[in-house]
Amino acid sequence: MTKAPPQGSGFNFQWEPLRKILELERSKGYGDTAVIGGLDSYLRRWVSEAASEMRSLTGQRAVASKLMKCNYASLSRGKRQEWLERTLSWLAQIDGPAAEGQKPRTLTKRQSPRPPHEPGRDLSSAITSIKGISSALASKFQKLGVETIRDLLYFFPRRHNDFAHIVPVAELELGEYQTIVATVWEASAKIIGKNMPCTEAIVGDETGNVRVVWFRNPYLAKTLKVNQKVVISGRVNIFKGQMVFESPEYELLESQELIHTGRLVPVYPSTEGLNLRRVRRLVKDTVDYWAPRLQDFLPQSLRSRLGLVELSQAIQQAHYPDSEAMKNTARRRLAFDELFLMQLGVMERKRQWHEGQQSHSFKAEHQIIQTFIDSLPFTLTGAQSRSLKEIVADLEQPRPMGRLLQGEVGSGKTVVATTALLLTVANGFQAAFMAPTEILAEQHFKTVCQLLGGNNQPLGEEKPFWTYVSSWSQPLVVGLLVGSLKKKDKEELHRRIANGAVDIVIGTHALIQEEVDFQRLGLVVVDEQHRFGVMQRAALREKGISPHLLVMTATPIPRTLALTLYGDLDISVIDELPPGRQRVTTKSLVSHERGRAYRFIPKEIARGHQAFIICPLIDESEAVEARAANQEYKRLCQQVFPDLKERMGLLHGRMKPQEKEKVMRRFRKGELDILVATPVVEVGIDVPNATVMLVEGADRFGLSQLHQFRGRVGRGSEKSYCILLADYPSEEAQERMALMERVHDGFLLAEEDLKLRGPGEFFGTRQSGIPDLRMARLSDVALLELARKEAEGLLQSDPDLKQPQHNLLAQELAREKEKRVVVAESN
Ligand code: ADP
Ligand code: MG
Repeated sequence: MTKAPPQGSGFNFQWEPLRKILELERSKGYGDTAVIGGLDSYLRRWVSEAASEMRSLTGQRAVASKLMKCNYASLSRGKRQEWLERTLSWLAQIDGPAAEGQKPRTLTKRQSPRPPHEPGRDLSSAITSIKGISSALASKFQKLGVETIRDLLYFFPRRHNDFAHIVPVAELELGEYQTIVATVWEASAKIIGKNMPCTEAIVGDETGNVRVVWFRNPYLAKTLKVNQKVVISGRVNIFKGQMVFESPEYELLESQELIHTGRLVPVYPSTEGLNLRRVRRLVKDTVDYWAPRLQDFLPQSLRSRLGLVELSQAIQQAHYPDSEAMKNTARRRLAFDELFLMQLGVMERKRQWHEGQQSHSFKAEHQIIQTFIDSLPFTLTGAQSRSLKEIVADLEQPRPMGRLLQGEVGSGKTVVATTALLLTVANGFQAAFMAPTEILAEQHFKTVCQLLGGNNQPLGEEKPFWTYVSSWSQPLVVGLLVGSLKKKDKEELHRRIANGAVDIVIGTHALIQEEVDFQRLGLVVVDEQHRFGVMQRAALREKGISPHLLVMTATPIPRTLALTLYGDLDISVIDELPPGRQRVTTKSLVSHERGRAYRFIPKEIARGHQAFIICPLIDESEAVEARAANQEYKRLCQQVFPDLKERMGLLHGRMKPQEKEKVMRRFRKGELDILVATPVVEVGIDVPNATVMLVEGADRFGLSQLHQFRGRVGRGSEKSYCILLADYPSEEAQERMALMERVHDGFLLAEEDLKLRGPGEFFGTRQSGIPDLRMARLSDVALLELARKEAEGLLQSDPDLKQPQHNLLAQELAREKEKRVVVAESN
């Protein structure tokens, strides 16, 4: 059986964007500058997107294949002009349905939209101002984040059902999404099977009849009148040897423009009590009325340069696309908007950071840096030297540094940061070093003192919370400021920080929040273990201090995500591990092999080593997770490792910070052999003696997170192991586990992870600061880089968006910012 020609989709096919680009190219003098990346690649992309529309339209196909063959870049200007004029004249010929001999689609009667909207309303009005939306309905929309008319315009469908293919009844095929236009011969309510009410109808056209059943919907029988024309879209099944539509979408033909059938039909995110048909109707009316009234905030010049459609068209087509190609065109425009606005926001923050207050420019003191580096028991890796150079160059500037230092666990960030601390002190300033937990602060305190002390052990006069490092001509004073200090000691430390007697203060993030007055703070280093947000950076600035800022993270973040989360910081990457690091042997096991893992752990412990056991990820809540962790801990103590039960510790998110610190401390001191922990718990402690990391339910974690877990072992000189346990891994999960066994590069894994799971899931836990992207994908590197480049260019030419053609853009940006603040507050 052959299918009927795909009417509908072809008719609405639009050559308009292409024509606009060609005209732009003409106006720019044939320099191949109309689109970034050149006309050739634009043409190929455009044709391939449009190809699906061209099935039966031979004239169009001929043009398209000519377009594909063009090699514009290689032509001389004269030849380009010739080609362009010729192409434009083809386009003029094939424009419109008549040239193709296509019958206009009779199904769509464009009617002027009903006037459902009261006067005096604008896009920011509540949706209750739309006729047909009661406050009860509005509260259902609110659950989906839709409160204003604008929100409703941006409430995009999750997908579209392709109901554009209209076929005669006689040509219906099994299993395909198809649409028929038919007359109702009979329709009645019935009970079928065991008490299931339904509506059954026989409909037909001149080629034949077909049965239609709507389960659980006996009321429809009243709506369907005999002899009425109806459009049915859905899949056809076979029942008792006869074709039947089962619960298809339907629409009466007389009523209005088709929105449920006969086209690409939007499927919206649903919530309890929101009926899809009703949502379609409301969105359609709203879009019809309001989209044409949208003012486009993207400057015309930018739009035509990038070949982006107008906003009103993009919104319309995102909901009710005329064709697959138009849907993609709309999506591209809206995705660009999201990324572009995001980058503008990020760059504004960066500028604010730089322009806030003056900062002190340091002298680079190469002599001191060199002496320090020479005193280390190793030579810096190339990546360390490069990052250090970038940092020193920043510190020489009179504007505050804002830099992210990225590098895997063990890549040597602390050494680099310590050099910056030293340089700060050498310039007569104080430096602060913040860690997310007390225990990590203590760890940094020891490391920094050791590094600065060089070979001149011991560390001089020592108090538990501060120390002299006497190996320098003037002793350096390093303080440790943590919550658990005695009140008296804390006050003394505060006093010494305030009068400048302490050079380097190491503490928790509270360091910056507490009322600590530095005499002359020159540098803040934040070891963030992926948890120091944009808001805190802003808070730091708002305190009126603008020291240089260095943020360190051990999570390898793909560039696209880094540009988003940390776009306001410059980035240095240590992408090279010190030589001689051992790989953590990684093995993935399935449930019946669990015994192997359990036999392996005591062997390592007998050698004097320690092990982590990570409990499975449970999405429900911290409480549920804590309960599950407790159970697992008990099971392990009683059934699996009864001999070791005195030497096992448990760590979960429901414990008080002090309790957590205590358990971690015991594990670090070697008083515990096994640490059972939930994934939410920060296990960023350095335990060189731990050689086994067992991850339960490994198939539920992302690659990046697994890699983070793995980084907790292999920190000493002993051979270390990571065991990934999954009960019934899917095929895809098995592939990911295999990837973990093979790949040890965190950045590679992170890229894969982002591709596989998207940004929301990337960090394993919800991460504030990831913007709400509806159309854009962070894995779309090309579009993101484009948006970034455009944002940079724009801000260079008009830093405050003061030029009249950027008015609307400035407004849109302000609105975005407001939205983000609200989101941040509700987090
Ligand atoms: P990170 O902070 O990135 O996790 P650290 O700075 O703590 O890494 O370094 C991890 C370990 O490697 C430390 O023991 C450190 O002394 C050592 N180390 C750092 N840089 C080098 C290097 N270039 N060569 C050899 N060992 C190094
Ligand atoms: Mg570290």
